Amino acid sequence: MKTQELVKIKNLKVNYPLQSDFNRMSKKEYIQALCDVNLDIYKGEILGLVGESGCGKSTLGKAILKLIPAEGMIFYENENIQDFKPEEMKNFRKKAQMIFQNPYASLDPRMTVYKILREPLVVHGIRDKSVINKKIHRIIDLTGLTEEDLKRYPHEFSGGQRQRIAIARALILEPEFLVADEPVSALDVSIQAQIITLLKELKEKLDLTILFISHDLGVVKYLCDRIAVMYLGNIAETAISDELFSNPAHPYTKALISAVPSIHNNKTKRINLSGDLPSPKNPPTACKFHTRCPYSTDICSIEEPRAVQITKSHYVKCHLCSER
Ligand code: SF4
Repeated sequence: MKTQELVKIKNLKVNYPLQSDFNRMSKKEYIQALCDVNLDIYKGEILGLVGESGCGKSTLGKAILKLIPAEGMIFYENENIQDFKPEEMKNFRKKAQMIFQNPYASLDPRMTVYKILREPLVVHGIRDKSVINKKIHRIIDLTGLTEEDLKRYPHEFSGGQRQRIAIARALILEPEFLVADEPVSALDVSIQAQIITLLKELKEKLDLTILFISHDLGVVKYLCDRIAVMYLGNIAETAISDELFSNPAHPYTKALISAVPSIHNNKTKRINLSGDLPSPKNPPTACKFHTRCPYSTDICSIEEPRAVQITKSHYVKCHLCSER
């Protein structure tokens, strides 16, 4: 298992204000999108980030790239990006890129593919046409696009091809770290496998580190080296993929895994969770999962569990688990 940290997140918090400040007499309310997230991402791995819709996965991805304001520390190669000056931030933007969920909304419909790919290079000061063309041709080769595609506009492509363009744009600056935010969830199932395979190949060829955000455990199991399970703005469990699926420790992870269809194992009993994800505006005290957990006891609503290490690569936040 890879263990050299590329990204280290410490006590990360994101609160979204719910109310405008027009009425100064009224009390401001916040949604706690992330509360005290601690997470390491190792160089060369694909880390899957899973959880239900609205649990804070995309917020975490954006916060790591400093696309939204956050409290806490985000170390990239041991430097806290929260302290970066504009020039350092520009340099960081070259190293760390994002692929968004919806390839229909993330590409400018007025630009040809050539211009879409050229734009980040120009923004980062590359003006020499031969250098630009060399980089563009390298990236279209890698992502399965063609010379002909460069002259066309996004609306002329299918969803899968648009996501290839979005991936090419994210890679044109030769980054080392990618945040892929549900990159296949807007695509037909038949196309999803092609994009997943492409990401896997690109990771190997370009030595990338990827944070892969998804609600689909089947995809994450196939693609990712390690998985972090998120619940209501908190990381509940992290482990290498095989271990997470063979020996899940957190009751929430067990419930998620029991819902994954499998042709090999139809004996696993599905664990149905009661109720919906609580509102992040008014989250439960202590263990955020205690309102839905089948094993909840008194202590779960009084004391927040700390992350304990149960094997070399396996951490879990639950009072039922003790350190080994
Ligand atoms: Fe369930 Fe308690 Fe563990 Fe939370 S700490 S997951 S409520 S058993």
